[in-house]
Amino acid sequence: MSFEKLGLIKPLLGAIKELGYEHPTVIQKRAIPLVLAKSDIFATAQTGTGKTAAFALPILQKLRNTEATENRAIRAVILSPTRELSIQIFEDIKGFSKHMSIDCVVLVGGKDIETQQRTLKKGVDIVIATPGRFLEHVEKGLDISHVEFFVLDEADRMLDMGFAKEIRKVHPLLPKRHQTLLFAATYSEKVRKLSKLVLTKPAFIETSKKNSTVDTINQVAYMVDTARKAELLAYLIGSRNFKQVLVFTRTKVSADALFIELQKDGLKCGIIHGDKTQANRLKTLTQFKEGTIKVLVATDIASRGLDIEHLPYVINYELPAVAEDYVHRVGRTGRAGRDGEAISLLDIYEKFDVREIERVIGMKIPQETIPGFEPDPTIRRKDEEEFKAKSEYKKPVEKHKRKPAKKAFVKPVSKKKRKTTKRD
Ligand code: AMP
Repeated sequence: MSFEKLGLIKPLLGAIKELGYEHPTVIQKRAIPLVLAKSDIFATAQTGTGKTAAFALPILQKLRNTEATENRAIRAVILSPTRELSIQIFEDIKGFSKHMSIDCVVLVGGKDIETQQRTLKKGVDIVIATPGRFLEHVEKGLDISHVEFFVLDEADRMLDMGFAKEIRKVHPLLPKRHQTLLFAATYSEKVRKLSKLVLTKPAFIETSKKNSTVDTINQVAYMVDTARKAELLAYLIGSRNFKQVLVFTRTKVSADALFIELQKDGLKCGIIHGDKTQANRLKTLTQFKEGTIKVLVATDIASRGLDIEHLPYVINYELPAVAEDYVHRVGRTGRAGRDGEAISLLDIYEKFDVREIERVIGMKIPQETIPGFEPDPTIRRKDEEEFKAKSEYKKPVEKHKRKPAKKAFVKPVSKKKRKTTKRD
């Protein structure tokens, strides 16, 4: 499925291509046609699933070619819980609309309200705001009677932050006929109540389905230099007291090398790959299951057909050559009733492979660093140049910089709480 097939217009197709988006994500595939068909939407989608483009692209399409005149009416309002998220959405929309004459403004607390009012006076099409500051503007006379699109992004979080009152005050001031798009990462009674108030015959989109293979698994990628991967692995196993961990390598050679390294570190480990006999593999597997060995190093092919599932941890010491194998690997974690954890150790070469995997699984894997194992920036630059020269990798057009915590598609292993932001 391509963005063209979703019925998007050329200025948008051009912009998303420049941003490096090749294929629509699940939520985009489902939401874009519905928004274009004028439906209200109730979507459960986590941050990182591409939900911003899912609502912004069809809205921009509908608002296209608005003339930049003074006193132009505001036609879309997007409310989000935090200043940071509002700014991100604003930047995303600037990127998507770069070939269109659409103006947007971000209205968040902590900024001078009069400056914001002056910008509004020049005429804008889209307002992205935190609920508190938006209500302030409305109470000061901001005209929202021509709004065609009302988006509540991360509605569950807005409600948790106590913004129900602001939303309830704003809502009746919107014109009777408008389209509302509600996005929430989780479904709760509060969200249901809000949806009843603001949505009319909505289409339901659920992308963060529980129990699908990868959604229940906590996934994270740790950025590390190639030469320090074994050290980081040993550190993780030791510091987090992993009792049973399956470690995947891409090749037999690296499986052997890692096995030797881990043994040197005094870890009880086993190895299975294509050069080991079936009897040997089964023996190793039994020892692993019994707990005699706690680290099992394996290649993809050797691990196929072996009954090794429901593990608490899977570590991708190297990413698989084939993106689909990632799903098989991480699918081995997760005990009944408990989430599993899949950790990928990413060096600079794999930073690019990970995108293909993310495309296949339809979500972003949060990238973090472990203190003391931060990639050396000088090595990174040098290697990156070499790598780029050798590969056909095309540099994607610079995307808006995002803070790592905001990248989380799924629960990161170290559940870093989002920064609690001052209510706006
Ligand atoms: P969001 O869930 O909207 O915060 O998006 C998360 C990240 O995914 C952002 O960095 C987007 O730029 C990126 N993104 C969104 N849609 C796509 C796509 N179709 N292809 C590649 N990247 C995307």
